[in-house]
Amino acid sequence: AAKAAGKNGLQIYQPSLSHQVVAKLEMKYALRHAIDHDQFVLHYQPRVDAHSGELLSMEALVRWIHPSRGIVPPMEFIPLAEESGLIVDIGALVLEKACAQIAAWRAAGIPARPVSVNVSPKHFSAGCLLEQVRACLKRYDLPASLLELEITESCMLGDGDWISREMSALKAMGIRISVDDFGTGYSSLAQLQRLDIDVLKVDRAFTMDLTGSRHGVAFFKTILSIAEVLGLRVVAEGVETEQQLQILRQLACHELQGYFISRPVAAADIESHLRKTLNFDLGGRALALA
Ligand code: C2E
Ligand code: MG
Ligand code: MG
Ligand code: MG
Repeated sequence: AAKAAGKNGLQIYQPSLSHQVVAKLEMKYALRHAIDHDQFVLHYQPRVDAHSGELLSMEALVRWIHPSRGIVPPMEFIPLAEESGLIVDIGALVLEKACAQIAAWRAAGIPARPVSVNVSPKHFSAGCLLEQVRACLKRYDLPASLLELEITESCMLGDGDWISREMSALKAMGIRISVDDFGTGYSSLAQLQRLDIDVLKVDRAFTMDLTGSRHGVAFFKTILSIAEVLGLRVVAEGVETEQQLQILRQLACHELQGYFISRPVAAADIESHLRKTLNFDLGGRALALA
C-alpha cells in the first residue's frame, strides 16, 4: 500500500516491502493448510559409530511436500513457522510421525534404533512438549530409550528453573537429550552438566574447520576433552569428506553424521541398515586405520 508522507507531499511507496508482507502471509496460510492436510514427511539421516560405521540412530528431518512446489526444505519454512508460532503444531506432528515410524519398524520385526527429533525453542518453551512426548510413547507403546530430543543452545536461555524442571522431567522419563549445532550458541559448561545433557552434536562449521582452518583440529580436540570430563557423547555433524572422517576417527570422536556417510533419506531406504545386514562404508583407508 502507498504510504502518505509528510507535508512536502511526497508519496513513499514500498512495493518490495508490501510484496514481502503478502508473500509471508500467503506462506503462513499455506503452512496452516499443510498442517491440516498432512503435507509433511520425515527423512532420516543416519548417525554412525565412527569406528565401525554401524548405524546407531537416525535424525528425523522434516520436509514439506507442497502440491505445486514439490519438496520444500526446512530452511524455507521453519523460520516463518517459528515466527508465527506454527512450529508448535509442526513439532507435534514431527514427534507423532517419528514415533509412528519407529512403531511401524518394530511391528515389521525390524530392529529399531533411536530416532532424534529436533525441538524448536518455541516448542520447548510452549510447555506442552512433555505431555506430547508422554502421550506419543504411550500411544505407540515405545520405550523412551528410542527417542532423543535435539535442543539448541537457545532452548537453554530463559527461565533457568523452569528449563531445569522441564528437562529433568524428560530425563526422568528416559529420554536422551542432545544439544544441536553445539559451539554456535551460548551454553555454559555448568548448564550442560546441570541439565544432564547426553550428547553434543558439534556444528558442521567445526567439522569444516578441521581442514579449513589452522586451529580447527585444536577446537575439536578441546570439545572432545570437555565432553569426556562431562561424560557426553560427541557427534560430528556435516562430515562431507574422507579427510574429515579420518581426522575425526583419529581424534576418537564417537559418532559421525554427514553427506559422506549418507544424506537424509526416506524411511524405506534405511531399512537394510536397520536390519543390521550392513554397516555404512567409511571408506577403504578408514577401515585400514582401525
Ligand atoms: P539440523 O538439525 O542441524 O540438521 C542438519 C541439517 O544439515 C539437515 O538439513 C541435513 O540435511 C544437513 N546436513 C547433514 N549432513 C550434511 C553435510 O554433510 N553437509 C551439509 N552441507 N549439510 C548436511 P535440513 O534437513 O535441510 O534441515 C535444516 C535445519 O532445519 C535443521 O538443522 C534443523 O535446525 C531444522 N529442522 C529440520 N527438521 C526439523 C524439525 O522437524 N523440527 C524443527 N524444529 N527443526 C527442523
Ligand atoms: Mg538437528
Ligand atoms: Mg544439527
Ligand atoms: Mg545445523
